[in-house]
Amino acid sequence: MATLRSLLKFWALSAFAIYGWLRLKLTRSPTLIILTYHRVLPESSDEREREQPGMIVSPGNLQRHIKLIQSLGAVPIHLDEWLRKKEAGEALPALSVAFTFDDGWRDNYLHGYPVLRQAQVPATIFLVTGMVDTGDTFWPEKVIRLVRTPGIDLSDQAFAWLQPYLSDRGSKSTPLSLLEADEIIHRLKELDDVTIIQHLEESTSLLTAEDNLADQVPVILQTEELKEMAGENLVKYGAHTRNHFRLNRLNSKEALEEQIAGCLSDLETMNVISVPIFCYPNGDITDGGEHLVAKHYQAACTTKTGWNRAASRNDFDLHRFNLHDGNSSTARTFLATIGRSLA
Ligand SMILES: [Zn+2]
Repeated sequence: MATLRSLLKFWALSAFAIYGWLRLKLTRSPTLIILTYHRVLPESSDEREREQPGMIVSPGNLQRHIKLIQSLGAVPIHLDEWLRKKEAGEALPALSVAFTFDDGWRDNYLHGYPVLRQAQVPATIFLVTGMVDTGDTFWPEKVIRLVRTPGIDLSDQAFAWLQPYLSDRGSKSTPLSLLEADEIIHRLKELDDVTIIQHLEESTSLLTAEDNLADQVPVILQTEELKEMAGENLVKYGAHTRNHFRLNRLNSKEALEEQIAGCLSDLETMNVISVPIFCYPNGDITDGGEHLVAKHYQAACTTKTGWNRAASRNDFDLHRFNLHDGNSSTARTFLATIGRSLA
């Protein structure tokens, strides 16, 4: 039975891969595919033990993606450049590809940039501007750090806020597995980001110094690194809010304004090569947020999957393909990931 199931899975994957390959090869009207990445970490990195599945690509896989997509005839281009040419009615290749990285992880500089530079492939990094130059990290990573630190009693009163989101069956003493941590993060998304961050700060102030949830070295990009990557015009920076707050969780116009317009003004004062393109955190869109994004930016990336036709007039609904080691470590799985969302 298990053999039959894995055989069926193999054929389904192969069918999607062939379909993806055919769609990419046969496209005639100018089309852009946008690839989304988050973290770039070597196989041996122990940071992988503290990250959600689906967030990481290895430098080797990134390199293979570049070669594969180029072998299909796709021309790497800066995202803003493709949009500009489209707007101006200039000639565009049948198939273009834009590489994008969300959140502004420092590993993009350490492990991603050398790959991009070697292949001379341009990319856009969507920055959370309030995190740049800080030693801070995002709340999901803090939750992982908390529940994966050995010897913490999560049934303690200090974690009362977290207890409804732990699994009923699971253990209440750490370390929990990465999978359990991931499930807790998904359940916590019921709460708004500010509440989660406040709870984490209160609870972690009770931890000992060595159990502190802060990282020893910065995990988010620093200004010097942003400048270095922009130096050869290979990397440009877009906006991913000021604090990575999900827009549908913000209920005042001021809070939305701060995250959307504030991020753009931060990018401008940072004096790096920025592009007026917004990327929605978690893909969450609200009417008020959408309106402000359209007012301040020229385009926006969503988490919807699919490709973008030059004939489309809506630059605020850009579709992307989210790639990570789990869905694109071979040519077949890479093409199946593309094919599945075009089917
Ligand atoms: Zn993000």
